[in-house]
Amino acid sequence: TGSPLVLQIKGLTSHYGRIQALHGIDLEVRQGQLVALVGANGAGKTTLLRAISGVQPVSGGSIHFRGEDVTRASADRRVRAGICQVPEGRQVFGPMSVEDNLRLGAYTRPKGEVEADMERMFALFPVLKEKRLLLAGTLSGGQQQMLAMARALMGRPSALLLDEPSMGLAPLLIAEIFRIVAGLRDQGITIFLVEQNAHAALSIADVGYVIETGAITLSGPGPELLRNERVQSAYLGM
Ligand code: ATP
Repeated sequence: TGSPLVLQIKGLTSHYGRIQALHGIDLEVRQGQLVALVGANGAGKTTLLRAISGVQPVSGGSIHFRGEDVTRASADRRVRAGICQVPEGRQVFGPMSVEDNLRLGAYTRPKGEVEADMERMFALFPVLKEKRLLLAGTLSGGQQQMLAMARALMGRPSALLLDEPSMGLAPLLIAEIFRIVAGLRDQGITIFLVEQNAHAALSIADVGYVIETGAITLSGPGPELLRNERVQSAYLGM
């Protein structure tokens, strides 16, 4: 808990018309941490991520990013401030090569540094190096998820926001994706992971938060939450 705050959310509320989707969310992500937000379908995970990225209006509370108040900043300004979201469903550019997808992720970066950053991504994701010249659309679901993460990292964000990286993947691939996410944290990358797969996410999380009907109901070290009785009965089918 000694490392600097990267993301600090205080009393955040958000509405869809008259319907309140977020009810005063408090949440922190510190540098180097892997923080997981878990919750059922419709609990408000996507709404919170979208509010952090700046594509969902906020009706109250605040979002600070590395000390800067970005509560009302544009999405583009947040990307430039170092927040980068990997969207749900991967969304790589299928008709473009793996390399060109990575170049797209570097649009905020000085041109001269892009090739070196791409080599770093190939070291983190060796399978992408193998497939660097292939069209992204020909990759498997798991490989497309890796490409989506690598593309986001090409912008050298201060924090990576991952929206349900396990969605639609077979169990073996889910395990691999979570190993990779834990590996990114071990390389010093700050990660905010939003997941319905509570077991997989809390197993690797330094800190976990449980969201229910738009409010945080539990938080604590990931493995500790995993042992929590309420989490076990509500999310792990125990
Ligand atoms: P999922 O895992 O299915 O994406 P979630 O935890 O991300 O679920 P949200 O999508 O953030 O949940 O939804 C939170 C609440 O806001 C839900 O009650 C949902 O019905 C409501 N909601 C989401 N999008 C809209 C919308 N466009 N208009 C009205 N209500 C919405």
